[in-house]
Amino acid sequence: MTSVFQNRFVYQGSPARVVFGAEAYAQVAAEVDRLGAARALVLTTAEQAKSGRELSAALGRRAVGHFAGAAMHTPVAITEMAMLALDAAKADVLIAIGGGSTIGLAKALALRSGLSQIAIPTTFAGSEATPILGQTENGEKTTMTEARLRPEVILYDVALVKTMPARLAISSALNALAHAVEGLYAQDRNPMTSLMAQEGTRALISALPRLKADTNDLNAWAEAQYGAWLCGTVLGQVGMSIHHKLCHALGGGFDLPHADTHAILLPHAVSYVEAAVPELLRPIAGMTGAPTAALGLQALAKSLGAPSALRDLGLREADLDRATALATARPYWSPKPIEAGALRALLSRALNGAPAQP
Ligand code: NAD
Repeated sequence: MTSVFQNRFVYQGSPARVVFGAEAYAQVAAEVDRLGAARALVLTTAEQAKSGRELSAALGRRAVGHFAGAAMHTPVAITEMAMLALDAAKADVLIAIGGGSTIGLAKALALRSGLSQIAIPTTFAGSEATPILGQTENGEKTTMTEARLRPEVILYDVALVKTMPARLAISSALNALAHAVEGLYAQDRNPMTSLMAQEGTRALISALPRLKADTNDLNAWAEAQYGAWLCGTVLGQVGMSIHHKLCHALGGGFDLPHADTHAILLPHAVSYVEAAVPELLRPIAGMTGAPTAALGLQALAKSLGAPSALRDLGLREADLDRATALATARPYWSPKPIEAGALRALLSRALNGAPAQP
């Protein structure tokens, strides 16, 4: 067998400025200045409007507007409303404080305006580290990848993630883990991305039980945030596969919540592909102490009390045919061929919270 080092690979590092352990409110004005900007539009969801107001106060005269309407899966109609706010404010930089939904809105605005972005992530979703934008229109989510979509600056402040409700934190961390897991068997993986995927997985597996036991454990939050950054970086550098395709199909087609959908589907998707790439998934099996990665991930999710049935998110038996059609249309590369009947069976198990099966 030839060594992996004999394979040609391309490593494209991220050009973003990443400040870890940041005090985001104290530092954000300096980051605006560093970008040569002066007029910031602050973006949040409605639920996180208070964070937007606090950030605007910290920015002082540099804050010229606050759009608090970001929503899951970046609906194009909302982006168009935010563009009106952007034009009215004559902003010259975008600042997203929130999870993947808010960061997604900043990317959608950057695409249309060419402005730079400062991302202040408050979940573990990892969008801040990627040049990927998923947008939803007419019930379908489409994704695009362009270098200019990647935020120029990321401020990681643990004080802003530790406000996540425990349930969201666990699901969001499993969403991060999914980036690493799919990164391990990505067609265009390289030794650097595999290294980051394994270290990101290690950090999350170490932090999450501590986080579940004590949501005031700041070290656990910080280690989870570090792991999520690595996992997000992997997502930003290699192509994802069947698991992400399934999540995009259900997210765009049925408006299911992103992090919970990832948390539920991950063991199922891994068990679908594991026999095709057992050696690539062995590190996950090893780190979870299980005979296979799928069993290890399933046991981890259970021990963390993560959601386990798509039915609880609102999916119905009657939705399975359309879900299968969406998941098999324009499939992402997969180490195991995508077969509609097998995927429908997988979705049916995930719907009912049944154990993952190859
Ligand atoms: P989210 O951003 O939708 O947040 C979920 C809810 O939690 C929102 O109401 C939000 O305001 C709230 N919230 C977030 N952080 C909080 C905190 N610290 N304290 C209290 N409440 C908080 O959820 P998400 O899972 O981070 O992001 C999902 C979206 O991001 C999806 O649309 C997904 O497609 C996208 N995404 C994109 C990429 C990419 O690379 N393009 C990567 C990951 C996720």
